[in-house]
Amino acid sequence: MARRKKIYEGKAKVLYEGPEPGTFVQYFKDDATAFNAEKKDVIEGKGVLNNRLSEFFMIGLENIGVPTHFLKRINMREQLIRQVEIIPLEVIVRNYAAGTMSKRLGLEEGTRLPRPIVEFCYKDDSLGDPLVAEEHIIAFNWATQQDLDDMVALALRVNDFMSGLMYGVGIKLVDFKIEIGRIWDNDFQRLVVADEISPDSCRLWDIETGQKLDKDVFRRDLGSLADAYTEVARRLGVLPSNATHMPKPTLIN
Ligand code: 5GP
Repeated sequence: MARRKKIYEGKAKVLYEGPEPGTFVQYFKDDATAFNAEKKDVIEGKGVLNNRLSEFFMIGLENIGVPTHFLKRINMREQLIRQVEIIPLEVIVRNYAAGTMSKRLGLEEGTRLPRPIVEFCYKDDSLGDPLVAEEHIIAFNWATQQDLDDMVALALRVNDFMSGLMYGVGIKLVDFKIEIGRIWDNDFQRLVVADEISPDSCRLWDIETGQKLDKDVFRRDLGSLADAYTEVARRLGVLPSNATHMPKPTLIN
């Protein structure tokens, strides 16, 4: 059988050519990176968890009419997605201060924001994904004003959906990052939620204890990342059992 063509390899995922034109296969790796890949590790089972969680969130979004790139899960680590043209911006929505916002503005982590705040960062690892203003986005033609309005609307709908879902299982959605892609239909484009939505790209805190259940566990050495993600999946009913901690295959001599 011919090997699949690799389209792109990122820090946590690989994109392969899909079975039909206009599709890709998205493979979730176990690699964890932080601080622009200065900190790296392999967390067994992370890819499986993120594949399942991202599927769960994307299907939930589709069910409330928010378009996404997701088509179907193929196996433990792979999903079939629509090929999209990724807009080179990270769209961040914050409900509580944390991370770079706390640093930048001197706000204590966990401070409730007066309303959800949407930020844009320019996707460029060599620059450390800098925060940019709408002025930059329009001037440098990364997106149009109409795109920006649509991106903010999409991001806020994702926030409403994700916040409610998480609140229902005792988790506070502090902030999250999404990426948005364009799908072309002849001369018409539509924007869809792309990439992934998972504890790699969200801050999730237990409402009662404040325990972190997201990638900050890895960034800040707070314990087992796989356990934290498994807890999120368990609460959401995504994993019926501890399916990610299955033993690796062993060689039989
Ligand atoms: P911060 O700007 O505070 O570092 O991040 C805000 C939110 O966006 C956090 O939930 C964080 O996980 C997410 N985020 C920001 N940049 C990235 C990124 O490059 N990759 C991923 N996976 N998440 C990011």
